[in-house]
Amino acid sequence: MTESLLRVKNLVKRFPVKGGILRRTVDHVHAVSDVSFDLKPGETLGLVGESGCGKSTTGRLILRLIEPTSGEIWFDGKEVTGLSNEQLGSLRRDMQIIFQDPFASLNPRMTVGAIIGEALIIHGLAKTRAEREARVAELLETVGLNADHMRRFPHEFSGGQRQRIGIARALAVSPKLVVCDEPVSALDVSIQAQVVNLLEDLQEKFGLTYLFIAHDLSVVEHTSDRVAVMYLGRIVEIASARDLYTNPLHPYTEALLSAVPIPDPTVRRERIRLQGDVPNPLHPPPGCHFHTRCPIAEKGVCDVKVPELHEATPGHMVSCHLRG
Ligand code: SF4
Repeated sequence: MTESLLRVKNLVKRFPVKGGILRRTVDHVHAVSDVSFDLKPGETLGLVGESGCGKSTTGRLILRLIEPTSGEIWFDGKEVTGLSNEQLGSLRRDMQIIFQDPFASLNPRMTVGAIIGEALIIHGLAKTRAEREARVAELLETVGLNADHMRRFPHEFSGGQRQRIGIARALAVSPKLVVCDEPVSALDVSIQAQVVNLLEDLQEKFGLTYLFIAHDLSVVEHTSDRVAVMYLGRIVEIASARDLYTNPLHPYTEALLSAVPIPDPTVRRERIRLQGDVPNPLHPPPGCHFHTRCPIAEKGVCDVKVPELHEATPGHMVSCHLRG
């Protein structure tokens, strides 16, 4: 069996809420609760859920941009959870992120060459200016831009081109894992497919492993080998993309899938409209977090006991008392 590149075990993140004159901690936002999964080298895992479900926080915890409250993160066979910045060393290089908003994530005062070259300087990957410029030119061409673009500023580019610059910046340090945090959701639909295709080509060329975060299932359908669905801080279902799309088990996954457009006009799928809003993560409901919106919830069961994430069929995990 192939060793995992990334293993996340029982990851928890609670953000303190401050209040009163003394700004004491008065409550906690339960952003990520008991999340576990692994990721094999070269694999793409789609992480999907509505905004505020904890998927981006999970990505940032893995990259150690924020510290977990508890749980373990293993990368390339080493536990990285408690390591300091210095101890993380080259592991920082191995894990990169592509941000959602290509407008906000690039410093408007820096040239594209400086933005991409910064990581090369930090990690000592180019000794001379000429070496750095040659590498930046190569990276720009790899993502479908021109070497001349290195002298321009981010505002001179379209949204899709800016996202390509963000991708070149992530690739500059030859990472193993890239967290793609909703990389296409801020782009026009016509540009989204181009950026997704580019990410797929780069994965093949450089053997990259992706954690692909998205808020709907249509974006990850063709890019992911496996898909994990999150609801209110917890993974509720995880399966191969094929299994999840053809045989969803969790009622929340069914509702998300019912919103995915089908290209064939002769096929009709009934839209499942969930009642109410996502509950406040300050006070998640007891039992199954989804019971307040679940169309098949059973009183006395679903509102009392937290369902375990269990294997319903080989490789297909679900967290539901009534399914699987
Ligand atoms: Fe719905 Fe109950 Fe399953 Fe939760 S455990 S998804 S409330 S049926």
